[in-house]
Amino acid sequence: MHKGLFDKAVAGIVEAKRVGLTVGISTCMTPESTEDGEFERIVELGKRLGVHEIIVFDAMPTGRFKFRKDLVDNPNWVEDLIRRSERFNADESYPGVLVWGYATSHRSVGCTCGTSYFYMSPYGDIMSCDFNHAAFGNIREQPLFTLWDGLTTRKEFCSAKWGGCKIKDSSTRDGVSVTTGKGCVGC
Ligand code: SF4
Repeated sequence: MHKGLFDKAVAGIVEAKRVGLTVGISTCMTPESTEDGEFERIVELGKRLGVHEIIVFDAMPTGRFKFRKDLVDNPNWVEDLIRRSERFNADESYPGVLVWGYATSHRSVGCTCGTSYFYMSPYGDIMSCDFNHAAFGNIREQPLFTLWDGLTTRKEFCSAKWGGCKIKDSSTRDGVSVTTGKGCVGC
């Protein structure tokens, strides 16, 4: 991290609060940072700064973590994150804490990537979401409605997946991209 970045972020939060904006902190946890107590530390920081909400994403097996096999088929630590958030959400002195894994779990709507939305890269490639690098066609080659029809009728994407992120599930990752021939996550 660049020197001074944390202080600048905190100064931005303080200023946003001063002008009356609704302010949140968005953060990402790994299994090891959760184990190290980072989740609790950032919630306490949010409380001290008086933010309204904290959104906590669980690390994805993509990008620099594309080799992190421990993030695939391993929902237990995300469940742990959800449980850790409960005591804060039961206490009104804390900001609201949304663990994103809750929203994609069986308790909420599940993951609907490639089912109710898609991601388009700056080059026109269509992905199921911004964390899935596998392309399912390009709008410079085919009309979007054709690509969307093709994506949403694949077995991995024809419905929402209750119980968590599609790209953290090996059965979904085994799906094949129509353009790359790679699995669902082309990373
Ligand atoms: S697969 Fe679903 S839960 Fe996972 S990153 Fe994409 S949209 Fe989010």
